[in-house]
Amino acid sequence: MTARTEVVAYIALGANLGDARATVQQAFESLATLPSTRLTARSALYRTAPWEASGPDFINAVAEVRTQLTAPELLLALQGVERAAGRVRSYRNAPRTLDLDVLLYGDACIASPALTVPHPRMWERAFVLQPLADVAPQRVPAPALVAVAGQGVERLGAEL
Ligand code: AMP
Repeated sequence: MTARTEVVAYIALGANLGDARATVQQAFESLATLPSTRLTARSALYRTAPWEASGPDFINAVAEVRTQLTAPELLLALQGVERAAGRVRSYRNAPRTLDLDVLLYGDACIASPALTVPHPRMWERAFVLQPLADVAPQRVPAPALVAVAGQGVERLGAEL
């Protein structure tokens, strides 16, 4: 069997129910234990007001992983982590215990019914771009950060 190559992927983490900070920290630990996957960087945590969503403030962060999973396998694994965190999918943008999105999967462009990569809304969101810039500044052009600079995002501190 040929070994699969490792792909660098970036995952957005968000939580806004219960102890959201602890949920995001736990999610980092869960990402570190995914099969055929290494957690290689974690951003600071950020606090943001709900964006097209309801409920308390969100805690957001971004993880860098190196994975041998395919992108659909990675998405399924992330949905398993979400379920383990107790997420119930009630309606679009409902308050959630934990939300995990694939932002980037190497340089792949994917447009399937289940998965769109790069994530279609990442460039509109400071709470994604700021933590992504922590771990992958080369993937976030300066003008993209400037474009979202007016959104209120509070950096809570480096976690690694
Ligand atoms: P959400 O409720 O925002 O977590 O959206 C989850 C849905 O978005 C799932 O049905 C996924 O199949 C789909 N989806 C499409 N692209 C992505 C992506 N890049 N990352 C995570 N979920 C995605």
